[in-house]
Amino acid sequence: MSWAAHDLEPYLIRIKVGAAISLPFCLIGSYSPDILTKWAVYGLDFSGDAKLTDDPVQLHRGWPGLGFTHSLAFGVVVGLLILLLTRNRMWSLSFVVGNWAHVLSDTLDSVGVMPLFPISTWHLHFDVWQYVGQVGRRGDAIAYYTSLGGVWDLLWASWLLWHWRTLTTAHFDREIAPKDPFWPWLHRRAGAAATLTVYRASAFFGLASIIGWLVWSLLVNDVQAALDWSLGGPQWAPRVGPP
Ligand SMILES: [Zn+2]
Repeated sequence: MSWAAHDLEPYLIRIKVGAAISLPFCLIGSYSPDILTKWAVYGLDFSGDAKLTDDPVQLHRGWPGLGFTHSLAFGVVVGLLILLLTRNRMWSLSFVVGNWAHVLSDTLDSVGVMPLFPISTWHLHFDVWQYVGQVGRRGDAIAYYTSLGGVWDLLWASWLLWHWRTLTTAHFDREIAPKDPFWPWLHRRAGAAATLTVYRASAFFGLASIIGWLVWSLLVNDVQAALDWSLGGPQWAPRVGPP
């Protein structure tokens, strides 16, 4: 899985695709596969170590399990529901794009996703880094941020920082708010400051997560703190493939 890249990808998609994309719905799409699954992989007691399931890989990415959340069809089905409920094509399309970005990103680990579900339960996985979700949040973070996964997150963070102007108030007022009815709607209810905060929240959360987890993984944790940027790393982590 990738960690904070999912928080940042929608901003870059919005920058590259422009007004065809609603950032909030793209973000909801990007969050959706893991919101529906990761709580059970890591557990709900916030210690990060409680397991709610015996087979996290099967539950997170498999079938039977919740792996259908990481398929192209899932994004389309929910996107159509959004279209039915809101009659807004941009919102619907943005959800699909955000969801697909997540699904494609998750092909980079050793478990991968079922892109063609329900036609096939075949897993697409490129093995760039190990899937380590089954060992709990802390071990997963250490493995991810010391491997090429950390590089993946850093690439997205650097790319967004390169485009830091998109996060300014002036850019929001000129380019974002007038082109998506979500923002005027929120502004009427919550005011200007809250609306801007919502706009920047995921970028701030993603960047802070990447910096925090990287520093913690490399400098604080005493389990395994060496960088391993080999393909399929880190090599010390248990090997896990598709369920
Ligand atoms: Zn995922």
